[in-house]
Amino acid sequence: MTAAVAGLVPFDDAVARYEPVLGLETHVELGTTTKMFCGCPTRFGLPPNSAVCPVCLGLPGSLPVANRAAIEYTIRIGLALNCSIASWCRFARKNYFYPDIPKNFQISQYDEPLCTNGWIDVTVEGETFRVGIERVHLEEDTGKSLHVGGATGRIHGADYSLVDYNRAGIPLVEVVTKPVPGTGALAPVVARAYVTELRDLLRSLQVSDVRMEEGSLRCDVNTSLAPRGAEWGTRTETKNVNSLRSVERAVRFEVERQAAVLDAGRRVVQETRHFHEDSGATTSGRSKEEAQDYRYFPEPDLVPIAPPREWVEEIRASLPELPAARRQRLQSDWNLTDLDMTALANAGAIDLVAATVAAGASPADARKWWLGELARRANESGKDLTALLITPAQVARVSALVATGTLNDKLARQVIDAVLAGEGDPDTVVEARGLAVVSDDTALLEAVDAAIAANPDVAAKIRAGKTAAVGALVGQVMKATKGQADAKRVSELILGRLS
Ligand SMILES: [Zn+2]
Repeated sequence: MTAAVAGLVPFDDAVARYEPVLGLETHVELGTTTKMFCGCPTRFGLPPNSAVCPVCLGLPGSLPVANRAAIEYTIRIGLALNCSIASWCRFARKNYFYPDIPKNFQISQYDEPLCTNGWIDVTVEGETFRVGIERVHLEEDTGKSLHVGGATGRIHGADYSLVDYNRAGIPLVEVVTKPVPGTGALAPVVARAYVTELRDLLRSLQVSDVRMEEGSLRCDVNTSLAPRGAEWGTRTETKNVNSLRSVERAVRFEVERQAAVLDAGRRVVQETRHFHEDSGATTSGRSKEEAQDYRYFPEPDLVPIAPPREWVEEIRASLPELPAARRQRLQSDWNLTDLDMTALANAGAIDLVAATVAAGASPADARKWWLGELARRANESGKDLTALLITPAQVARVSALVATGTLNDKLARQVIDAVLAGEGDPDTVVEARGLAVVSDDTALLEAVDAAIAANPDVAAKIRAGKTAAVGALVGQVMKATKGQADAKRVSELILGRLS
């Protein structure tokens, strides 16, 4: 058991001696209005077991019919990922018993996926990695179990369990990468950047709302480690990692853990693992099934999918501007370097900056706020930027208040904090807290004169032409006005008084 392995190997040490290989399996709930094989609605948050019918409950005698929109969405995804689209393929039954799968099997695709052999480029720290896409296939989602009682929400220790079949039968696309070697120390960030890129791509295709927190985008992260120059190691599969940040942490943890296992002369066990948001650790789940355990066979209740070539070409022609092309366009509009743009992309901030610019901020200001103050706050609270309780329009407003001199940077930061704390719009906060810059020269001059009187030595130096000494007096005035003065104006007033 891995529990016997003492501790972890520090990450830098681990990647200096071992080569990580990544693999990502991403499940995406499609945003069709009805389920994959029946007419039930797919809306999130309905009362439990209210969006069900004989088909998605797997009642005897019911027959599935494939959802055309789901097939079209899957082809869109495949084309955007540079895949080949099968001209003929079939659904398969994946047989297993679990309470949240009422038929005792899941309709999926096995050896005949709809889309195969594509790629997507991911850029991290100026380096581009081409991630191969093994397959994109279509299947149905399972229901959802709720384990009541017990501390962890897992079945172990629960008093009883409830099952909600509303999600059962929602169309689900699985995007499986080929193994991704050669990322070295960047493996955790490459994994995160890949999921970010895929999420943005799916969003631009309008095939899913891609909300990780609602489970419409779920990621299984495969990680293996091998000594440099050796054969690939045994992989583990960390299931259902539900945020971008967690993807990065899960890879990092597995690298540190597997390095400790290998250092101890043991073998990494091929198994599924659970990721724990609180600790960032993974723990052992069940040992991994082999494909043969599922007794796959072609689904006899559905006809094969044979998308006509003309239809596929129509879909290809209707693809929107994809994120990579959009990034190039925005980069040139915003006049940013490759490195700046990559930083924005990796922070998941491109849409936020674009929306902030659309709300009136300059590209430079929008970028500064999102990558500076707001990224820092997101980091401190362990959230993604998009989860912060501030809108691009509010950031644009703060930026405008700075540009017009109503706020200085320090006050602007206080306003941002208040907006994040739910105190309302920037203007409301400025008004309620009286945060605006004191621009009334009469009020400022009082503070300027007081500072000059209190520091005759400094004043004398400035009179003698050493204007660099003005900073000390500006500091005094800023302190006296509780930071609510425009430092540049204060400096002008002092120099005016002492000239
Ligand atoms: Zn149904």
